[in-house]
Amino acid sequence: MTKSRSEQFFEIAERLLPGGVNSPVRAFRSVGGIPRFIDRAAGSRIYDVDGREYIDYVGSWGPMILGHAHPQVQEAIRKAVERGTSYGAPTVQEIELARRIIEAFPSLEKIRMVSSGTEATMSAIRLARGCTGREKILKFEGCYHGHADSLLVKAGSGIATLGIPGSPGVPACLAELTITLPFNSVEAFRTAVDRYGKELACVIVEPVAGNMGVVEPLPGFLETLRELTRQAGILLIFDEVITGFRLTYGGYQNLCGIEPDLTCLGKIIGGGLPVGAFGGRRDLMDYLAPVGPVYQAGTLSGNPLAMAAGLATLDILSSQRADYDVLNHRTAELCAAMGRLFQAADIPVRINRAGSLFTLFFSDHDVVNYETASLSNTDRYALFFKGMLERGIYLAPSAFEAAFVSFAHSEKDLEETLSACAETIKTMKGGI
Ligand SMILES: *Cc1c(COP(=O)(O)O)cnc(C)c1O
Repeated sequence: MTKSRSEQFFEIAERLLPGGVNSPVRAFRSVGGIPRFIDRAAGSRIYDVDGREYIDYVGSWGPMILGHAHPQVQEAIRKAVERGTSYGAPTVQEIELARRIIEAFPSLEKIRMVSSGTEATMSAIRLARGCTGREKILKFEGCYHGHADSLLVKAGSGIATLGIPGSPGVPACLAELTITLPFNSVEAFRTAVDRYGKELACVIVEPVAGNMGVVEPLPGFLETLRELTRQAGILLIFDEVITGFRLTYGGYQNLCGIEPDLTCLGKIIGGGLPVGAFGGRRDLMDYLAPVGPVYQAGTLSGNPLAMAAGLATLDILSSQRADYDVLNHRTAELCAAMGRLFQAADIPVRINRAGSLFTLFFSDHDVVNYETASLSNTDRYALFFKGMLERGIYLAPSAFEAAFVSFAHSEKDLEETLSACAETIKTMKGGI
């Protein structure tokens, strides 16, 4: 049998790049087969080098809420390119994007732009340590906050998919400063604050977890984090790299009414270009150099192309504010219909959804934290993934990821997805 072009390219890629990829989640190791090489994308669709077309539910892992190659975003990038690609000096676009983001988030007074979500969380942690003079940090199992040393402990999908417990290369003395607790456990949190309270610089959390699959906070969980951190002088950091501008125009903090001290952003605010940002109260942010002593810098921070893509994206999102309801509702309908298909086939699933994010767990346990997420049947997910891919539906090549629905996904796209799902289910067996 002749090899597909993706197979041919992957053979070359494996010789040149570790695992043939530049980010582990792109490899198909847990689901089998080889990654598709993507040639181009438009709207809800991506096209591989073999000319196959897929309805895309990965959306570059979050940024593409408007769908791929949105004409207005493309045009903004084109215009920016003509004026040069990087100056290493301030631009009007940076203050414009900062103003938009600050206006959308009640807890933000100042922000700093960086080039990735990883940089945002890493820098926010440094700032928290610098402001409080404390060294320990606390995170939750299954939450991913980028790949900085202190944060790569029990860090969700990428690592869970590969079965790596933490990561070699992270010094033990750093890992020891990171305390991890089960997500959604108020009791465990109370105990930890009693024990470590005075040593903790910050608590960092994905307010809706997206990196062990989608897991919403149970009532009272985030409220308790806010209350106890405030009492103990610990900074609360919301990592809204996925949830920022995904669930509403603003963050999950706008919906739950809880204000963190610092917020991390990325993905959507860059409109598909490399961007991150972190921000918070003025008094905290002014600890950063050049005003304060905490150092943080970046050659490409606030890059003009990225600012242009981010601004165009937020322009569209703010002008269509009401449409988040439509998007979220459409996603809810898709999830409900998928749920019915699996139920009819007697295959136990739990579908967790927040706005336009969802995860289908092959499990008969409710998924509320990393432990319960891990109980899901990953072999069955691999079968499902493969069946869907063959039928032109591109899901994440891992059982512990969110699916991302965009404004470009039409009713017809969702219908096609459902019929592919029905066909795939016929090839799967019932029971657990
Ligand atoms: C993707 C992600 C990050 C890291 O962002 P990068 O741009 O990949 O470095 C951090 N936090 C969360 C919640 C994310 O989903």
